[in-house]
Amino acid sequence: MSPPSAPKPFIRTVLGDIDPTLFGVCYAHEHIIIDESYVTEQYPDYLLADVPRAIDELIDFRAAGGRAMVDSMPCDCGRNIRKLVQVSRGAKVHIVCPTGIHLRKYYPPSHWSDTESEYEIALRFIDDIEQGVDRNDYNGAPVERDAARAGLIKVASGRDQLNSHEKKVFAAAARAHKKTGVPILTHTEQGTAALEQVEWLGKLGVSASSIVLSHTDRLPELSYHREILSTGVFVEYDSAFRWPKEKGNPTRDLILSLFEEGYGEQIMLGMDAARRSYWRSHGGKPGLSYLLETFWPQLKAAGLSPSAFDSLFVRNPARAYTTIPR
Ligand SMILES: [Zn+2]
Repeated sequence: MSPPSAPKPFIRTVLGDIDPTLFGVCYAHEHIIIDESYVTEQYPDYLLADVPRAIDELIDFRAAGGRAMVDSMPCDCGRNIRKLVQVSRGAKVHIVCPTGIHLRKYYPPSHWSDTESEYEIALRFIDDIEQGVDRNDYNGAPVERDAARAGLIKVASGRDQLNSHEKKVFAAAARAHKKTGVPILTHTEQGTAALEQVEWLGKLGVSASSIVLSHTDRLPELSYHREILSTGVFVEYDSAFRWPKEKGNPTRDLILSLFEEGYGEQIMLGMDAARRSYWRSHGGKPGLSYLLETFWPQLKAAGLSPSAFDSLFVRNPARAYTTIPR
């Protein structure tokens, strides 16, 4: 009798688990839906609740060659699993939905993430991943599990260091990661505290290859990035369209240098375009096709090869967002 074969790795999309080789050209940190919530009361331009417009925007992305997006709005700050499923079906784009907790400022006073223990928070994450995402987004209404499940855990820290709330949430994320095998995506505040995040997750038993750090290119210092990438984590850069003209494009310069130095297998790109004013379908710019239509041609003109395109948009996301079942 042969031993039972190990469960196969997969990427958990809102329409089901897929073989990572089928994921395709991916944006690694997006905001496809942000429903009405405490966040959008504080920041009205963040409201991205319109499904037909999201489908239009993602159809443009698909026409430019895109096939997959990782949403990054975790529990109780505008996540809507039903809408993500509708957009994925309508635009024929793979979508991965997170569980997790965002920055403390995105939640009202005395939120459950304040009052619950690390263990209780981890259970919410695990249930989103294994049982199905709560249709009511853990917003206080009774929990109602959807068939669609979460495929990653999103957590965040503020500027320069992790406070006690963030450390607890990271510990809950590590616990849920170790139970389920889904990867962890972090928000860094203006690129800061990246090394502190990796160190804390490492102490909690999470290996660097299961971690994606977002927004680190907002601090585009080459030596800092060498230090981050030497730990073995993935990074996601999303400031390419944000730099004022007079600054040139530090994100492009960083990518060119780091590919040259051999770190190309750890870098991914996204837009993090969490404002209507960035979306064509809402009358804004540059639109979600920007990276494929505008930025990649610039990188190519500066000397990056087609294989670098594959690393940035296909191979690295397929590795970074793979779940290795436990
Ligand atoms: Zn984001």
